[in-house]
Amino acid sequence: MGSMKENLYGKSRQELETLLQPWTDRPFHSRQLYGWIHAKGERNFARMTNLPAALRTSLAGKYRIALPVVEVRQKSTDGTVKYLLRLEDGKAVEAVYIPEARRITFCISSQIGCPLACVFCLTGKMGMVRNLSPGEIAGQVALLAADHGLAANTYNLVFMGMGEPLHNYENVMAAFRLLTDPRGFGIAPRHVTLSTAGVVPGIRKLAAEEPRPRIAVSLSATTDDLRDELMPINRAFPLPILFAALREIPLAPRERVTFEYVLLRGINDSASDAVRLASLAGPMPVKVNLIPYNEACVGGYAAPLPAAAQAFRDLLLARGIRASIRKRRGADISAACGQLAILDEGTLQHPIPIS
Ligand code: SAH
Repeated sequence: MGSMKENLYGKSRQELETLLQPWTDRPFHSRQLYGWIHAKGERNFARMTNLPAALRTSLAGKYRIALPVVEVRQKSTDGTVKYLLRLEDGKAVEAVYIPEARRITFCISSQIGCPLACVFCLTGKMGMVRNLSPGEIAGQVALLAADHGLAANTYNLVFMGMGEPLHNYENVMAAFRLLTDPRGFGIAPRHVTLSTAGVVPGIRKLAAEEPRPRIAVSLSATTDDLRDELMPINRAFPLPILFAALREIPLAPRERVTFEYVLLRGINDSASDAVRLASLAGPMPVKVNLIPYNEACVGGYAAPLPAAAQAFRDLLLARGIRASIRKRRGADISAACGQLAILDEGTLQHPIPIS
């Protein structure tokens, strides 16, 4: 490992320009290299035919271009594919490919583990292992796209995998810039959504970025008492402070803030919860995504009765709030919301890869 060549995947255009300085002072060489890596998906310097041969040789002597390595693909009966990706330090992370009737979504991780410890979430049980680098984040997308032969903008991207993206702000935004650079990977920013548990300073910072991803907030409770219990981050940033920050986001025309709301039977799924949610969120342009609790072997929670979930949604709709119930995807392979975790590497020794 120590003698491994440095990986260029994940470097910004400016970083590549600096790296090339010993060999060339022509800015277009770094632009070409960047285009090969991100727009064309080339991993082999020798094939970068518009770069001088000597430069290609120098690059290959010192650097390499590498994505995370797919160790296991698990395919759900519903078509969802969960990837276990091996990183250069030997640690692993998960990403999920979710085909739906009218769109495809890539669910991408921002951290290994998560420091937030939301009580209903399995990733939270892992604790925080480490942040992912820009290349490890963008690499998940490049890898899933290549695996399915998909061009940019034929799928949506959600930072809803493992981790709290706003706790890894700089690396997530560096990856976002690589992925949305029109001269690079070329995904339209509106196809990207970042989901946060409510890290208010990060939300304020994100709101001022241009371009920025769309914003989703995991709410899951309508009173500070309950939210303090379910999502400990609420003790640092309670609802009035969270909503003050959300109201200040300069939204594009027709843009909405998404609220994710994990429905837990008997805990936050009553009619009065729905009515409170409507009055909290209703004054803003929002859509509410109700997520029936997925089994995560934690805390003894249960999914809401289907009738309760529908009644909850109908109460929101009746108050003019867009609301839908998120379809459960990949639950048979533990790929659904809240189920991503690498709890015991020992169980991963004999995986059953598909295809
Ligand atoms: N940390 C960020 C990104 C993760 S998104 C955030 O919290 O938004 C993952 C989504 O899955 C969140 O909306 C979370 O509330 C939801 N979730 C977590 N555990 C779940 C479970 N057991 N069942 C259903 N949804 C869950």
